[in-house]
Amino acid sequence: MTMTTKILIWMVAGLVLGSLTNAFASDVAFIQDYFVNGLFHVVGAMFITGLKMLVVPLVTFSLICGVYGIGDIAKLGRVGIKAFGLFILTTALAITLAITVASIVGPGEGFELTGDQGEFTAPVAPPLTQVIIDLVPGNPVAAYAEGNMLQIIFFTILFAVCMLMVGEPGRKVAEGAERLNQIMMQVVTVVMHVAPYGVFALMAKTFALQGLGLITPMIAYFGTVVVVLLLHATGTLMTLLKLLSGVSPVMFLRKMRTVQIFAFSTSSSNATIPVNLRTTERRLGVDNPTASFIVPFGATINMDGTAIMQGVATIFIANVYGIALGLSGYLTVIGMAVLASIGTAGVPGVGLIMLAMVFNQVGLPVEGIALIMGVDRLLDMMRTAVNVTGDAAITTIVAKSEGSLNEAIFDDPEAGIVEEIHLPHAAADST
Ligand code: ASP
Repeated sequence: MTMTTKILIWMVAGLVLGSLTNAFASDVAFIQDYFVNGLFHVVGAMFITGLKMLVVPLVTFSLICGVYGIGDIAKLGRVGIKAFGLFILTTALAITLAITVASIVGPGEGFELTGDQGEFTAPVAPPLTQVIIDLVPGNPVAAYAEGNMLQIIFFTILFAVCMLMVGEPGRKVAEGAERLNQIMMQVVTVVMHVAPYGVFALMAKTFALQGLGLITPMIAYFGTVVVVLLLHATGTLMTLLKLLSGVSPVMFLRKMRTVQIFAFSTSSSNATIPVNLRTTERRLGVDNPTASFIVPFGATINMDGTAIMQGVATIFIANVYGIALGLSGYLTVIGMAVLASIGTAGVPGVGLIMLAMVFNQVGLPVEGIALIMGVDRLLDMMRTAVNVTGDAAITTIVAKSEGSLNEAIFDDPEAGIVEEIHLPHAAADST
């Protein structure tokens, strides 16, 4: 049985168990205390923390090797510009599709406001100027300690470029980074072996706490987001992949399943970086320089799924409150959603914060966000899976355009599959 199948089985088991717990045992104190908030919570939280543990060292070593491996600053700039352009393009396409479909479906029309929809207090968003200033880490150690991805990318690239400039001493550090990168990749593989249980616990806890009943009154909104997410992931992104790189979207989606499951169960593009890096390099055949640069960059600034939620939510709230946005309003929403995604990290629930920024800009009632909060946890899982699919698709497209995609690896269904791990003493015994 492959690792993906195993994770999938445990994921479904967790989902079923969680939903049953929610339906039949939500007031059984023993189950809530010892399982939902006990075992499932602990195992799930350890799993997510374990993934986060990998992000900073892996991105750092891998990016040092990547930039040093490119060895050509003009190429690095070209890869960055291509990726950035595609990130903006796909996010804009995603939200345009969302607004179009939602305008046709009309979620929120005839929705009764009861006045007790709860509260949503909008966090204060930093101005764009600050977002740009913050790209430069005042203290790199703090950036690493906080896991600030854009600052880490900025500093690491600068560092690696200077390694190239100094010659011999830089080469020695690069050799060390190469070894460290190999070791970190092995740590990823080891952590992936506990994924089935981690995913199970996360699913069981989420669905035990999150009744599916919440969806019923919101079905038009929920359903529209889900349909557009599917359309974008399998339609827009795969068409771009086929047109711009010529590789098989079916093979791509098949190999992306594990990454999507990780994104779905953790709701975090950031926590999924290690698995996405491993998959783009070892399963899809993207070379390390391209993958190590674009995957973490995309996890922070490319959020197609989140943009889709924002597009549909805008139409939904506008309909509920009877506000006509007009063409200029929609264009502002598109522009704002794209900008908002650049400065915010891919962590759970950040989409709602971005939505508040968009609403402030177009004058929609921010408190309306309280209406969609109940179903946001589930949508967060799904949109994060789309976010990471976009990151990997763009990584593949850029790699292909740079001649850095190994198509023999891409076309081989078995390439880079997670295999049994052997502990050192077992290896020693067998020799
Ligand atoms: N959870 C999403 C991500 O990490 C962001 C969001 O939509 O809230 O990509």
